[in-house]
Amino acid sequence: MGRLSIDQLRERVRGVVVTSDDDGYEEARKVYNAMIDKRPAVVVRCTHAGDVMAAVDFARENELDLAVRGGGHSVPGFGTCDDGVVADLSGMRGVRVDPARRTARAEGGATWGDFNAATYAFGLATTGGIISTTGVSGLTLGGGIGYLSRKLGLSCDNLVSADVVTADGRFLVANEEENADLFWALRGGGGNFGVVTSLEFKLAEVKDVYGGPILYEMADAATVLRSFRDFIGKAPEELGGFPAFQMAPPLPFIPEDRHGEPFILVVSCWAGALDEGGRALQPFHDFAPVVAEHVGPMPYPALNSAFDALVPPGLQHYWKANFVTELGDGAIEAHTRHAPDLPAVNSTVHIYPIDGACHRVAPEATAFAYRDASFATVIAGMWPDPADNEANTAWVRDYYEATAPHSEEGGYVNFMAGDDQDRVRANYRGNYDRLVEVKRLYDPGNLFHLNQNITP
Ligand SMILES: Cc1cc2nc3c(=O)[nH]c(=O)nc-3n(C[C@H](O)[C@H](O)[C@H](O)COP(=O)(O)OP(=O)(O)OC[C@H]3O[C@@H](n4cnc5c(N)ncnc54)[C@H](O)[C@@H]3O)c2cc1C
Repeated sequence: MGRLSIDQLRERVRGVVVTSDDDGYEEARKVYNAMIDKRPAVVVRCTHAGDVMAAVDFARENELDLAVRGGGHSVPGFGTCDDGVVADLSGMRGVRVDPARRTARAEGGATWGDFNAATYAFGLATTGGIISTTGVSGLTLGGGIGYLSRKLGLSCDNLVSADVVTADGRFLVANEEENADLFWALRGGGGNFGVVTSLEFKLAEVKDVYGGPILYEMADAATVLRSFRDFIGKAPEELGGFPAFQMAPPLPFIPEDRHGEPFILVVSCWAGALDEGGRALQPFHDFAPVVAEHVGPMPYPALNSAFDALVPPGLQHYWKANFVTELGDGAIEAHTRHAPDLPAVNSTVHIYPIDGACHRVAPEATAFAYRDASFATVIAGMWPDPADNEANTAWVRDYYEATAPHSEEGGYVNFMAGDDQDRVRANYRGNYDRLVEVKRLYDPGNLFHLNQNITP
């Protein structure tokens, strides 16, 4: 197998090295999206940065593909590959909070559940994803949108430093002072530049929040979307959340005879003073008659895991995405035409506001370019039965095609499909050429190409 043998790799690595001859291979090759069925030559279950360096060296020296896995949530399945090497960081999940400096450092395989549990103990948080099982690394490197992004900016805006193993196997620190070009590229540029073994974030005071889902009739979808659009840009930045389309799951707060029907929702998160939460959410109650709701005070990590059960590992996934600067009537019409056909209770469409603190960062200050977008839309097809793959993929594609003429050319890299590689330049707009320059410096051979790829 080329210049480095598996035995030599095993000698160098403290974690477990799994090949197809080993017990545990079937589990080790799996990623979250069950539609992805790849057979890597070797999965390196890393335990520290040294193991990551060994995995990177092994892939480079043997001229093998290299996939990097943090939380494993990549919908296109970038966390695995055929015949290559997987650097699997999912065992590296430690989070250390420094309450005096108000920072937290997460290892490269930590999930948002790990992160939020650790910071909650100190009454602190930063912007993370809305599902607790998503990886901190993959989400942050692509940007990072969540309940707190109006108040605190994107996840990448709160990143203060990262430890990175680059394609040549070096260990670098990237922050505003050291390797600043790499630090710039990491904040939105995805996994193109190296393996991040730990990330340090600044934190803000957020402990218990007031929020949850509010359901309205699908017939009121256009009114709800217009009302949300007109309201949110001027709303206090402590108010996070997003409109969504979702079939009602069988939950006690939803009338039983409505279970399984599609609804429009507003999922909200008030991260200001808790006793002001009810008043802050009042405007949502004026959008249209409310069918059901489950809002109230709760720990921030509870809201972050409230929808986990709808998206267990092992579903089939196909997603498409774009940004809109104006959520105009054309886009709203496309949503109201396609959303009622949601194919499964796991499928959803989220329309995340990009405003508040996200807009106060200049488009060229980080790799994440769409600072003037007002919403990031994701059409997230998720369903259990592979027999439905063709029909449900078609639903996502048709829905996307209908919204595309009313949207920007680019989309949020973390919500995009494997067949969106031709949109990478558009995703980064004016930042693309600088990203190519940084790529040439740190990964001229494109070892890190299993991603929304910036080619050197
Ligand atoms: C159920 C679900 C909910 C989601 N919710 C949100 C949300 O609320 N907000 C949001 O912004 N996004 C969300 N996403 C999208 C998410 O940001 C991407 O799927 C992201 O890639 C997941 O990161 P991961 O580490 O879990 O995935 P992985 O599959 O492990 O990684 C994806 C890619 O990220 C890169 N990467 C991961 N770890 C590292 C590392 N340590 N070093 C270098 N590169 C790395 C690699 O290129 C890798 O291929 C969600 C996705 C899912 C499936």
